[in-house]
Amino acid sequence: MHKNFIAGSWVEGSSTRLNINPSDNNDIVGEYALADQVQTTQAIDAAHEAQKLWAKATAEHRSDALDRIGTEILARRDELGMLLSREEGKTLAEGIGEVVRAGRVFKFFAGEALRLAGEKLPSIREGVDVEVTREPEGVVGIITPWNFPIAIPAWKIAPALAYGNAVVFKPADLVPGSAWALSEIIARAGQLPHGVFNLVMGPGSKVGQTLVSSRKVRAVSFTGSVQTGRSIGMSCMERGAKVQMEMGGKNPLVILNDADLEQAVSVAINGSFYSTGQRCTGSSRLVVEDGIHDAFVAAMKLRMASLKVDHALKSGTDVGPVVSQDQLDQDLHYIQLGCKEGGRLVAGGELLVRDTPGFYLSPALITETQSSMRINREEIFGPVASVIRVKNYEEALETANDTDFGLSSGICTTSLKHATDFKRRSSAGMVMVNVPTAGVDYHAPFGGRKGSSYGAREQGVYAREFYTSVKTAYTLA
Ligand code: NDP
Repeated sequence: MHKNFIAGSWVEGSSTRLNINPSDNNDIVGEYALADQVQTTQAIDAAHEAQKLWAKATAEHRSDALDRIGTEILARRDELGMLLSREEGKTLAEGIGEVVRAGRVFKFFAGEALRLAGEKLPSIREGVDVEVTREPEGVVGIITPWNFPIAIPAWKIAPALAYGNAVVFKPADLVPGSAWALSEIIARAGQLPHGVFNLVMGPGSKVGQTLVSSRKVRAVSFTGSVQTGRSIGMSCMERGAKVQMEMGGKNPLVILNDADLEQAVSVAINGSFYSTGQRCTGSSRLVVEDGIHDAFVAAMKLRMASLKVDHALKSGTDVGPVVSQDQLDQDLHYIQLGCKEGGRLVAGGELLVRDTPGFYLSPALITETQSSMRINREEIFGPVASVIRVKNYEEALETANDTDFGLSSGICTTSLKHATDFKRRSSAGMVMVNVPTAGVDYHAPFGGRKGSSYGAREQGVYAREFYTSVKTAYTLA
């Protein structure tokens, strides 16, 4: 049984839950303890005490801790990648890739811990010194979703610890395995003072809600659905806590007449269907110019027919299963809705039977769709992409921006003029030219605009905005 980690000890929960493999529902990945409100409060109290000590640790001490954690994650990439793919359903190559990313993130912030520079400004008053420094926020609550079970926790926990905060980490209930393995590494390899890092597994409605409403939790970093994000945001604002929310997208990929067709198809297949389409940066809307539309759809159908949907750990699998029955039902619901709204399902969208019982769905492509349809406005979060035909570049840009979201956007074109204009006028936080809308560097800022994100950017040096508080000091010597 995998326990929670509270105040430096591994403790049983008030109940347990089984972690089921979505590629094979007969395979139980493990049994995990579920914390309740009392245990979550104990974790918060422990973090609150320990943070005072951790804030005083030298930058080198914190850097070394993160470096050791990163080293162990990277050394165990194959084993952890297998665990991740087994519980979440992304292919083994994707699982290992995600683990490597998590390890690199810890290494990056091991360096950043040593680079927390301040500023000295000239004063408007004679003899006065003005200093701007950054201090830790205090206790940070970290709430993560199921779709990146090790990378998202890593890119929140690493900067939190690097800058002297204590952490209470609540992973998604659905996939606790990778989060537990990461926590075990942090707890042991990190050699942190007791209480600096705490793991509380359990449902959002209990564990998450306790974290969000505790006065001792000074900042909450959340990734997940819009609905949950908004309610967390409101709770944090009510009590004046800092909050950062990453809540998904409805990301457009524009394909212009002058695009390299083969490249555009590869970019769309990757962005729309890899990781089973369960990425907040996935290309769910393919906005295609009239002149290339038919050739693009035909080439997509061909490539989609060759995609192998199967057990995530089988060699040769391109697309693993959907993560759960609920998510599968949501995907099927939107496919039906898209057809009802006037779209044409031209490829995939079928439940598949494989050697093992799992949530297998063939990637779906729906053409003849309009920007106003619900499938083009609401996040589906599965291997489902719709095609919107447009007359020209201006209409493509307008359609791409016609969304309440604004996380990532992409364009496939050989025109420097259109690529440059798209980068300037796209209303997304991240813009891709001839590369998939999903797939970003770990040292660059990550985040969106409009309904996709709220608060400071994540990752890279930009992460310090959220995990530190600025202090301005005036001294007359
Ligand atoms: P949620 O937003 O419900 O969950 C994300 C995290 O928040 C989980 O750890 C969850 O806990 C927690 N949580 C839930 N309710 C609360 C609460 N009241 N207070 C504090 N924390 C809470 O997303 P789901 O995982 O349920 O997925 C639902 C949909 O969200 C998906 O179908 C998809 O459309 C979208 N999604 C978007 C993601 C993105 O990156 N944009 C990522 C994942 C999902 P727990 O689940 O353990 O109960």
